[in-house]
Amino acid sequence: MTPSVSSPRVGPNGDDSANNASRMLVLLHRSGGSATRAELTASLGCGRSAAGYALTELVGRGLVRIDDRPSARSGIGPGRPSHLVEVAPGAPVALSVHLRVDTLDVAVVGLGGRILRVEREPVETRPEVASIFLRISRLLRKLGRECGRPIAGVGVSMPSPVRREDGYALQPRHLDWTGVPARDLVQEGLDEPWPVHVGNDANLAALAEHRHGAGQGSRQLLYVTTEHIGIGGALVTEGSVFGGARGYAMEVGHTSADPDGPRCSCGSRGCLELVADTRALMRAAHLPDEPVTGIEYRARVLMEAAERGDPVAVAAVDEVATRLGVGLAGLVNLLDPDRILLGGLLARLLPLSRARISTELRERSFLERAVPVPVEPARLEAGALLGAAELALEPVLAARAERPEPE
Ligand SMILES: [Zn+2]
Repeated sequence: MTPSVSSPRVGPNGDDSANNASRMLVLLHRSGGSATRAELTASLGCGRSAAGYALTELVGRGLVRIDDRPSARSGIGPGRPSHLVEVAPGAPVALSVHLRVDTLDVAVVGLGGRILRVEREPVETRPEVASIFLRISRLLRKLGRECGRPIAGVGVSMPSPVRREDGYALQPRHLDWTGVPARDLVQEGLDEPWPVHVGNDANLAALAEHRHGAGQGSRQLLYVTTEHIGIGGALVTEGSVFGGARGYAMEVGHTSADPDGPRCSCGSRGCLELVADTRALMRAAHLPDEPVTGIEYRARVLMEAAERGDPVAVAAVDEVATRLGVGLAGLVNLLDPDRILLGGLLARLLPLSRARISTELRERSFLERAVPVPVEPARLEAGALLGAAELALEPVLAARAERPEPE
């Protein structure tokens, strides 16, 4: 999916109140769901009366509420105390699904990127497609019924490239599935006409980081992550996920790191994800990379050993960080990012290997030497879940009051 809301900007129609209302809601959403009236007015860059009109409109539509008590955040600076503006308790919410290799999360997510409730179920090895989608539908119907809020839509995060036009998951290889019509399967299991949106997990986590996490304000955000096994990547460019011609772009885990390396499940050899993921880390420490169940925990234990200075663990971290740095250097030359975020276990790896990654970037990327690119850990615990909710909340955020646009 390529969501269309870009960073809120002050446009030429500063007096267009419908536009201001929409932009104010986006600002509130990206501020975690609460901000003072003065902060919103300043960020909008319009006059106080225009901001007031926009706020009245949002209150009238049941999307925000104003806390009339003076806000604790308003004590800075001169002038009257500024009231706190919050997402209204009855505002629409998204239902969000994150399917991973070992867990299934279904959540209710409100504006502001607030996770209001999560239900988690374990996923067995090589699960059946029908059984997983039945469980997804059951949980969605249950949470939708019980949350008592208007449902803006359903967002689904899949561990697979996802076709933009119809939400088809091309290859959820780590689940041992071939292609799956994910959007249709979720839609068929619902008894309400909620619109269903499907996206790739790394794309969605990157989108969430851009809107609510460590990627805020970045123009060209490169996100690289590993969760259970494998490596995913995404690019958020000017606020939108870069999807390529069909939505499949940025499979960075399947760029070749070693042409004669081991065979990858994608059909190629020596892909980056074979030499720089959790399995590679275990192998580098001469530990078994099977079974993949629980491998995240074992990788964490190994990194803790590296923190304590265990020489084998330190060498393993260094080896994987070197390969990761090589991969990142190629991506920097290709994409010219202004920030790199590492997610999942790579975020954990970063403090142990920052110097190694920086060295590889500097030695292998002339763009990096010209303008060093900050490499930072991703910040959100549930990025993909929040990113999936972003897809479903998009119409709420983009909606304008039903009145004619000024000429
Ligand atoms: Zn591959």
